[in-house]
Amino acid sequence: MRTRAPARVLMYHGVDHVGRERDPHGMFVTPANFRAQMELLLESGFVPVTEDAYLAALGGDRLPRRAVLITFDDGYQGVGEHAAPILESLGIPSVLYVPVGLLGGRADWLGDRLRYPLLSAGEVQGLRTQGMAIGAHGLDHADLTRLGDAELLRQTQETRDTLAELLGTEVPTFAFPYGAHDARVRDAVAAAGYRAAFSVHEAAGRFGIQRVDVNATDTLRTLRVKLHGLYPAARRTSRHVPRARRLVHDLLGSAHDDSGALAVARP
Ligand SMILES: [Zn+2]
Repeated sequence: MRTRAPARVLMYHGVDHVGRERDPHGMFVTPANFRAQMELLLESGFVPVTEDAYLAALGGDRLPRRAVLITFDDGYQGVGEHAAPILESLGIPSVLYVPVGLLGGRADWLGDRLRYPLLSAGEVQGLRTQGMAIGAHGLDHADLTRLGDAELLRQTQETRDTLAELLGTEVPTFAFPYGAHDARVRDAVAAAGYRAAFSVHEAAGRFGIQRVDVNATDTLRTLRVKLHGLYPAARRTSRHVPRARRLVHDLLGSAHDDSGALAVARP
């Protein structure tokens, strides 16, 4: 069953000054670019919404036509240091997805050159107190599609319980590490009591909601294209349908600046 997506969902990873030589996948947006992107959203009439409003819309409530949900995966330190103050100053709500078993450690899935620090449990609690919603991103950023049943249960159920205890609130949404999911994984997330889960490109109802990745290669022009209502559908279809591939090419081609091509970050 396919649930109609009630709003665009943007997926960020890090916000910090990290050179491309250490960040070949372009997962870190500079604080200045992040601020400019958030200002562009507001100036363009987009209405950032809360996780609660988004969930209510999945249940049938109406959202503004240009509603957008801002999400961050992985819980990088720079999101607390740089993004949170920008969001707070602009009054923009967001959701942060953290691998709860790794808080206070480093992201070892990014390669040896960028073992970037993750927020501590106390810092995540602090961001929650400031108003950022916190969601689940598994225990240790494992690809859930490769796990046996017992470990899959831990990564979904135990993650939810641990995070709920840490925050003193419910944890209604999940983001799949690497965006990877299949029917068994989606069923496990649903059975663990989450109300929705976010993927990247692969859509599958409310437990596989597509997001638009925003990364280091994006300019304000490419972000505008990605916010276009046709972009996610065209992007999804482009792998199978040559005509849609041309549409994506045309959309993005007209939006490139001199800095080069778009990259797709691994979540
Ligand atoms: Zn991730």
